[in-house]
Amino acid sequence: MEKIVRNFLKRRGYKTLDLKSVLFDMDGVLYDSMKNHCIAWERSISELGIECTLEEFYLYEGQTGRNTIKQLIRRGFERDADDTEAKEIYTIKTKYFTELGPAPVMPGAPEVLYLVKDEGLIPVLVTGSGQESLIGKLELNFPGIFVKERMVTAHDVKYGKPNPEPYLMGLKKAGVQPFEAIVIENAPLGVKAASEAGIFTIAVNTGPMDDSVLYEAGADIVLTGMEELYDKLPQIISILKQCR
Ligand code: CA
Repeated sequence: MEKIVRNFLKRRGYKTLDLKSVLFDMDGVLYDSMKNHCIAWERSISELGIECTLEEFYLYEGQTGRNTIKQLIRRGFERDADDTEAKEIYTIKTKYFTELGPAPVMPGAPEVLYLVKDEGLIPVLVTGSGQESLIGKLELNFPGIFVKERMVTAHDVKYGKPNPEPYLMGLKKAGVQPFEAIVIENAPLGVKAASEAGIFTIAVNTGPMDDSVLYEAGADIVLTGMEELYDKLPQIISILKQCR
């Protein structure tokens, strides 16, 4: 672990990693929601007459719904979708997702969040989701952790993941530099965004893909899930605090 951190510092040209903030992705990290998202995506896109598989949506995870729709319309019909059309399709996808019922909290996620808070670190949410009522849902499941001022959602960004933009915004909202934060992500595109923002990235592989996909996207460490992260986080935090 210590070697991984030293390699990261060397590669980035950082002198220290002075941990102050933890940036959390939401779907597949805080909520076990990816299966429902993929079911809703597969249904809404195949209905348009575009061939697709449920599994492929794990690979698009992290980018905004608008970008996923535009990419698939281009593939299926060889034309561009405008924002109005993309919005209509996203509304249908959201309807199907909602019909599947609320996704459960990811096992280990509350423990990780309260540990981060107890350590005096600033939790920030960085999600490609544009759900209304997001803050209400988070407050219900994880009381006292997230505040609106420290959240980046689909409504805040122009490009979204895999562009580093949302994570750079997250750093700004926390008031920290890339060498003062870590990211917890589960999706290849999200890992890419975090890594390109210059942040130490811990991937939790809660989906069906191979660990190598997350390493190739730029993850510094890949863990099996939030429960493993909870077990290892005290050690990770103490190493990161020493690396100065
Ligand atoms: Ca995710």
